[in-house]
Amino acid sequence: MTGTDAEACPYGGMDEDEPPGTTVSLVVARKAVRLSRPVRPRRSLNCPPAAAGRVSGRNPRSTFQTRVFRKTFYPDVPDRLWNDWRWQSRNRLRTLAQVERVLELSDRERAALSLDGAMLPMSVTPYYMSLVSRDDRNQPLRKTVIPSTSEFIHGPGEADDPLGEDEDSPVPGLVHRYPDRALLLVTDCCSSYCRYCTRSRMVGHGSLPHGSDRLEKAFDYIRGAPAIRDVLISGGDPLSLGDERLDWILSQLRAIPHVEFLRIGTKMPAVLPQRITPDLCRTLRKHHPLWMSIHFIHPDECTPEAFTACSRLADAGIPLGSQTVLLAGVNDDVETMKRLVHNLLRMRVRPYYLYQCDPITGSAHFRTPVAKGLEIIEGLRGHTTGYAVPNYVIDAPGGGGKIPLQPDYVVGRDGDDLLLRNYRGGIYRYPDPI
Ligand code: SF4
Repeated sequence: MTGTDAEACPYGGMDEDEPPGTTVSLVVARKAVRLSRPVRPRRSLNCPPAAAGRVSGRNPRSTFQTRVFRKTFYPDVPDRLWNDWRWQSRNRLRTLAQVERVLELSDRERAALSLDGAMLPMSVTPYYMSLVSRDDRNQPLRKTVIPSTSEFIHGPGEADDPLGEDEDSPVPGLVHRYPDRALLLVTDCCSSYCRYCTRSRMVGHGSLPHGSDRLEKAFDYIRGAPAIRDVLISGGDPLSLGDERLDWILSQLRAIPHVEFLRIGTKMPAVLPQRITPDLCRTLRKHHPLWMSIHFIHPDECTPEAFTACSRLADAGIPLGSQTVLLAGVNDDVETMKRLVHNLLRMRVRPYYLYQCDPITGSAHFRTPVAKGLEIIEGLRGHTTGYAVPNYVIDAPGGGGKIPLQPDYVVGRDGDDLLLRNYRGGIYRYPDPI
């Protein structure tokens, strides 16, 4: 394929060539599990510290849970295929029947998967599904990828496009809100769909044309806007495109003299770490300075496979930051967030943003009070490494941009002294004459 060829969504309309569960019945599969090792109901998926950066090769290490899942539902799939991102993409679980083979569904989950009313399609890679609890409906990762009927409730203040991106799009899929930055949506496909996605209105629906014409128009627009020095390539997930297509997009942008650097927003290291191949890293490193924002939301995503993916990207010289959405019942407590940010630092990913969940239609069950986010920041600041503390922001509805939120550490003034509260609640004076 050349760079000017259209690349259709690699996931759209593809037949499942090896649907999960077709080679083994659930009963036989469960016996297989009993014969191997007893399944523990909940076990930390986190990679031990020593594993960071040394998980590589043709047979990467996995969590115990992933190994059991493979043995149970994909016993005939060799490592060669399991570790192939295109095989993972072709074999995503997308239907009620496929999901029901691997999970014990609640009535609400089954109803949501049966009804044709969800704004966002359902899709989960076999790899990510291996991290999802089979029987615990309240497991954090499960809540984020398995739909529930709560999505059908339209809460007050919610909107399909709460950030007003469509209003700031001079070309379809190009958002130009800030003078010096542009957001380029290169695809509307993701390997797995997050139920709280800010772009639920468009991802997975085939609403962005896949041909090169739209992108050529976007490049033309950026060429004609010399103030743009920073382009964020997002989607959908840009890494769902093939290497050649990505190379072409990055080359076109790199050739624009006033574009100083590029950023890619992706969730691949979390949901499909097999995508981060040495070939992809060779492609990306040609386009430095290139930065990457990775969407991690929970410490259970920090598996040996994710460690390998992030190590490869970091070794390719790509600065990595994480963007985490604060989600009720998923990561809305200090201890979970602390485990996540500590794992991220070990993976050489700087916790960058903690987002208050956007008021997307049908997302009320994911949103926390803003006070919860402030409580988490207060529980991190001073209690752990400064690099581990993300910026807590609200992306203001209506296109106001990111507004940072901080616990208030200024408690008042006494004459020429400012009175400050430290992380332990102690009050300190700082000379600050008016
Ligand atoms: S990976 Fe990003 S764009 Fe894709 S569904 Fe998740 S949040 Fe949305």
